Amino acid sequence: MKLCMIGTGYVGLVSGVCFSDLGNTVYCVDKDKNKIDLLNKGIVPIYEPGLEEILKRNSKQKRLIFTSDLNKAVANSDIIFICVGTPTKKNTNSADLKNVFKVVHQLKKIISKYKVIVTKSTVPVTTGDKIEKILIKLKRKKLVDIVSNPEFLREGEAISDFSYPDRVIIGTDSKKANIKMKSLYMPIIKKSSRYFNTSRKGAELIKYASNAFLATKISYINELANLCEKAGVDIKDISQGMGSDLRIGERFLRAGPAYGGSCFPKDTRALIDTANQFKTDLTIVKSVVSSNNNRKLLLTKRLEEILHGKLKNKTITFLGVTFKPNTDDMREASSIPMIKYLNKKNSNIRYYDPSGEKHEFKKLKNVEYYNDIKSACFNSDLIVLHTEWNDFKLLNFKKIVKKNKFKVFDMRNIYSPTKMKKLKIDYFGIGR
Ligand code: NAD
Repeated sequence: MKLCMIGTGYVGLVSGVCFSDLGNTVYCVDKDKNKIDLLNKGIVPIYEPGLEEILKRNSKQKRLIFTSDLNKAVANSDIIFICVGTPTKKNTNSADLKNVFKVVHQLKKIISKYKVIVTKSTVPVTTGDKIEKILIKLKRKKLVDIVSNPEFLREGEAISDFSYPDRVIIGTDSKKANIKMKSLYMPIIKKSSRYFNTSRKGAELIKYASNAFLATKISYINELANLCEKAGVDIKDISQGMGSDLRIGERFLRAGPAYGGSCFPKDTRALIDTANQFKTDLTIVKSVVSSNNNRKLLLTKRLEEILHGKLKNKTITFLGVTFKPNTDDMREASSIPMIKYLNKKNSNIRYYDPSGEKHEFKKLKNVEYYNDIKSACFNSDLIVLHTEWNDFKLLNFKKIVKKNKFKVFDMRNIYSPTKMKKLKIDYFGIGR
């Protein structure tokens, strides 16, 4: 099949590359010319393990084309995927759909032959109806069908998530569009993924409902971790004990910092906003959002307590700053408010992250990026294990810090408190 991905970010690029690897011809379009230039040179602008190799292989076969020429890409494609960002609109909770509608208005001018238009971007329920309204003339001429196909891939595991999804959701009542989408996804469905054809609005809502539920699981275990700290119980026991009940499941039940990233924070807010528009009250999701906001403050306060309120001139090293491992994505990472606070309090902050230096911290005067773990930790007063990259799982703190007294705040519970005690390391975990 011939496909066009509009928006070549985490979702558009990974889906485009993976669809091309299944034998489709894929045009990847982005308004960011710099991104397209890099991709044409075989350089992947995001950190996603394994992506570069598949990209190069398919570019070589001329099945994967990177271009800024939307007209040509659309003209040559049967299915158009909208994969642009839908961040939170400034000073509101609602999803900003200006990128989506901009693309739709462009498509309105270009399309002259039947196309399936698919929203892969996460968009609030009824967005598909609004798109259809804009394209009503094309719809009446049977030149378009508008489908919702939410994406569930996770950054860092995006290729396997895309290739082996638990489910593929196709929201449309058009038989013609459903047949096309089903045959596109057939190689993936054959690997035992479930294929759901649902209403368009249903598909749109499934995505938000799923993300809000996962955010709820994280916030739930994070709050229980607070109780564990007071009650002298190890949260890891609770996670395991609860998680081995198949009705509950062990994933997303690990206590840590506030959830972040490009999806959960904005999608929980947008779901609350949608509910408000429909005059319903999602009290659970509301409290998840507020619990998560509190968590950022709570862990910052904890950091301060660990250093007995004396932050000035203390050297604090963050190991990992991204919201999770195997991604370079810093969107809503909890390290940002923490580091900003410590910077204000005149701590000397160092950080190392396997995905490299972050522009978020470049302007902060007391924050310095180190490009290896050892020099980042040398002579530090406090090591903060913020992100669970594999690189941080077997550290010999005494050897790398080389200081008599230092502390470790393990926000991911990677290390054993008992072992740390034996090593006489001043160790703090989460919920234990
Ligand atoms: P992103 O910010 O990484 O990428 C979006 C891309 O769209 C950018 O490269 C941008 O330049 C491009 N773009 C914006 N407007 C454009 C236009 N008019 N024409 C062409 N290109 C345009 O975003 P992302 O993380 O890939 O997310 C995209 C969508 O997918 C969002 O709705 C997000 O919620 C959803 N989603 C993201 C993930 C994830 O893990 N990142 C997972 C599932 C779903």
